[in-house]
Amino acid sequence: MKAERTDEEAVRLKALRQYQILDTEPEEAYDSLAQLAAYICGTPMALVNFIDEHRQWFKARVGLDVPEMPRNVGLSYLCQKRRDIVVVTDTLANEEFAQNPVVIADPYVRFYAGVPLITPTGDMLGTLCVLDRVPRELSQKQMDALLALSRQVISQLELRRNLAEVSRYAEELKRTETSLRESEQRLNLALQTARLGSWQLDLKTEELSASNQCKVNFGLPSEAELSYSKLFEYIHPDDRASVQESVKQALENKTDYEAEYRNIWPDSSVHWALARGRGVEEVNNKPTRMIGVTLDITDRKQVEEEFKRQNRRSQLFAEITVKIRETLQLEEILHTTVTEVQKLLQADRVLVFQLWADGSGTVVQEAVLPGWPVILGKNLFDPCFKEEYLERYRQGRFSAMEDIESAHIQPCHREFLQQFAVKANLVVPILVREGIWGLLLAHQCATPRRWNSFETELLQQLANQIGIAISQAQLLEKETCYSQELARSNAELEQFAYVASHDLQEPLRMVTSYLQLLEKRYKTKLDANADQFIAYAVDGAHRMQTLINELLNYSRVSTRGQPFMPVDCSAVLKQAIANLKVAIEESGAIVTHDPLPEVIADATQLTQVFQNLISNAIKFRQNLTPQIHIGVVKGGTDADRESLNVIPSKDEWLFWVRDNGIGIESQYVERIFVIFQRLHGRAKYPGTGIGLAICKKIIERHGGNIWVESEPGQGSIFYFTIPDRAGKQS
Ligand code: ADP
Repeated sequence: MKAERTDEEAVRLKALRQYQILDTEPEEAYDSLAQLAAYICGTPMALVNFIDEHRQWFKARVGLDVPEMPRNVGLSYLCQKRRDIVVVTDTLANEEFAQNPVVIADPYVRFYAGVPLITPTGDMLGTLCVLDRVPRELSQKQMDALLALSRQVISQLELRRNLAEVSRYAEELKRTETSLRESEQRLNLALQTARLGSWQLDLKTEELSASNQCKVNFGLPSEAELSYSKLFEYIHPDDRASVQESVKQALENKTDYEAEYRNIWPDSSVHWALARGRGVEEVNNKPTRMIGVTLDITDRKQVEEEFKRQNRRSQLFAEITVKIRETLQLEEILHTTVTEVQKLLQADRVLVFQLWADGSGTVVQEAVLPGWPVILGKNLFDPCFKEEYLERYRQGRFSAMEDIESAHIQPCHREFLQQFAVKANLVVPILVREGIWGLLLAHQCATPRRWNSFETELLQQLANQIGIAISQAQLLEKETCYSQELARSNAELEQFAYVASHDLQEPLRMVTSYLQLLEKRYKTKLDANADQFIAYAVDGAHRMQTLINELLNYSRVSTRGQPFMPVDCSAVLKQAIANLKVAIEESGAIVTHDPLPEVIADATQLTQVFQNLISNAIKFRQNLTPQIHIGVVKGGTDADRESLNVIPSKDEWLFWVRDNGIGIESQYVERIFVIFQRLHGRAKYPGTGIGLAICKKIIERHGGNIWVESEPGQGSIFYFTIPDRAGKQS
């Protein structure tokens, strides 16, 4: 109940506020009504009051000085409660009123008659009341008059509210009008700055009215007449149909019309336009007009075009660069270049021309549109292609001719070009290491053509790429030739060594046996000198024999090698040690070894490697017992790793032969593997200088490496690797 009352009170207060009466200036209408009430009822005081949350505020008052009173003071609450006229003839006669502040103090009210002010929507806003300081009664007529006056107050209020609304509306109208005017101005400004042209088309009469900017977008002066059919004459012939179709579709489907098309301006320049529009003012469900805007989008289109071309250019570069890396096939690279460039530039012919020292040249690649002369494979000589031209190209300059008819060239050069139907050409040099290799050319045969910077740059950059490809291809060719040559001369050398050593053996055997015969028969029979000479000769012949045998061994490493088989390295080492039995015993050498693996190899050759290395370890010993150790480790394992300076790779075995001999100075560590290279005189350490060369050849035949680590006086370690072919045997 209470809540309901609070709600009611809230509604009442809201209604009161709508009239916007509180705290307003006195108004004649209300004052007159109050005076009339006092006059009719014969009272000295009369009020028109409005009741808000806290007070009764007096809009009009007669006989009272205060502008308002607290809400809980006075008798207005009676009207609010009863919602009807209230008459209290004598306040002192009623206990309820006798103590009211207005009764016991100023204005000492003894008589009260009030009428509630109720709006048409039923909200009680205040009262119209009359008061007296003496008791009094009201006749029915007086009460009726008071009621009539209260209705007048309400009418005044309503009038006031309506007036307020009207003026608000008028103000709003004014505001709308101003803002409309402003927004029209803004729109015009926007249209101007955006260079938006506006137009409207009467769909029945096809009458077209266009703004000045719209005409500017077609390259026309503002006084130019522009009709719908005329407009189409300005649109690029290739775009007319699509524009017409867009308009039709938009009208049929009642969608917005949008089209991008090219305009041809009176000066023949081509400009891009964007048009947007909409059908309006429908009659019988069909638009009668179309309104819209046009915008010059040439700049945007150019940026877009440039962006597209850049994209295609990067793509082309990527393709050609990939080709260079992948194939090194010059022909393929050149072929891709000419076909792609022809497509990209829309040129009638693109070709690569290789120049020769005599000034002539050959068309080595060509992409040409059907209908134009094919010159692929032709050897051409242009007598007018002067040295100075070449020099300019050599310096990286290009040449672009828009129209050879009017170009500043010699007549003979013009004739030369005309025989291939060339009307315009673009030529860039292909340079290889400062020299000129040839030319990359684009021809236009149908019409003259102005080449833009994009086109010249593209061609130049491609020519650079081609230059790189050519020098790489040349290097590869050289490399291939070189290694083929090397292989051939190696084979020849081996053949020579074999034949020489083989054929020398027979005469040498004869020399040796006759020398031995001489020694046997004539020793001590000739003089002492003769004996010595014979001894030298025999020794020489022996050494020659050894040398020849070793040479034969060397040449046989590749010619007489056995297929690779699983080989037990301990058996191989055992055999090598057995072969060196005498030397080991004589020197007292101690040979130890790690457990040795099985490898895939040529057993005889591996025996020879171990034998040569151990024999050297004994031969090049110091004055102490030779200690020789053969070690091995498999790549990718941890075995013995800490004592090694080398880490073998995962798929190989690393062997080493370590001795405590005289060692080798660091500057010789590579030389000793070269055939016939020795570090000592024969008198001190006999030998031929072939042993390590044979080892190297054998190890390399197996796909491994051999090297030495040594310090003079500290001994040497000879390392060699053998690939682990277990399970990969072919
Ligand atoms: P040769 O032993 O017939 O002289 P090699 O080709 O076997 O020929 O060796 C070439 C040279 O390398 C030797 O003359 C020697 O100076 C040096 N050399 C080889 N092995 C060792 C070694 N274990 N210690 C020191 N020097 C060595």
